Amino acid sequence: MQRLALDARRGGKRIGVVPTMGFLHDGHASLIREARSQSDLVITTIFVNPLQFAPNEDFSRYPRDLERDTRIADEAGCDVLFTPTPEEMYPPGFDATISIGGVTAPFEGVFRPTHYDGVATVVAKLLTLTQADKAFFGQKDYQQCMVVKKLVRDLSMPHDIIVCPTQREADGLAMSSRNVYLSPENRTKATVLHKALQAAQTLIRAGERRRARIEALLSETILAESGFTIDYAAAADSMTLEQPSEAFAQEQGIVLLLAVRLGGTRLIDNLVV
Ligand code: AMP
Repeated sequence: MQRLALDARRGGKRIGVVPTMGFLHDGHASLIREARSQSDLVITTIFVNPLQFAPNEDFSRYPRDLERDTRIADEAGCDVLFTPTPEEMYPPGFDATISIGGVTAPFEGVFRPTHYDGVATVVAKLLTLTQADKAFFGQKDYQQCMVVKKLVRDLSMPHDIIVCPTQREADGLAMSSRNVYLSPENRTKATVLHKALQAAQTLIRAGERRRARIEALLSETILAESGFTIDYAAAADSMTLEQPSEAFAQEQGIVLLLAVRLGGTRLIDNLVV
């Protein structure tokens, strides 16, 4: 992979990279299309990264379909699919971990304490292997985008990180490979996440800045449906993820962040207001 990428760079090509865990959907395809529009060589990586899953999580049952992924990536304009195995990425003796502080601590960091070390380590490796000029990530994983930006800034890595908008199903549910885990009944219920985000957005736009009020509306909207457990339903500063004890300042950007569990499936979503 790295030899191919270095040759392309020496040939003057701009390399765009879309890191994924596969089981591609139109959210991934939108990143590939964006990479296509900004690059000469588009590389999509498919790697279900064991380092970013805790032992109790869904690593072994994470959905996989390489044949279908190949077709979707190709149609979206991908030139090269890079699909390494865990043994190739982490051969015996592999002993490195990249650990980013600060922005990794709240929200996902509370519920998945080892997750972002795994993400930072694999992203550093994938960007180096693919020699990415630009790497494309989805806003769907808002905190992950902040972690990746921090990674390249703190380690002076020469990659531009491009954040692309969240793609949604017609009823508002954010596209996710994990949506296939949902039963038909829970698939219908899951639309309440986007409804909660929109309700809180309306409240903020009407002038509400008290964090407790905003977060209460998020939680109440979700819990009006049965079967949900909330990991967090939060409002935070969109640049720092800090949470004011009382109220946001009038001009402060606010990100609404949700992580819930429904019938054994964990779903996340967010909205920047
Ligand atoms: P994943 O395969 O879930 O690790 O996601 C790979 C990349 O696709 C990440 O940068 C995600 O943020 C992005 N992504 C996932 N779902 C969506 C979506 N619904 N819209 C836009 N980007 C997405």
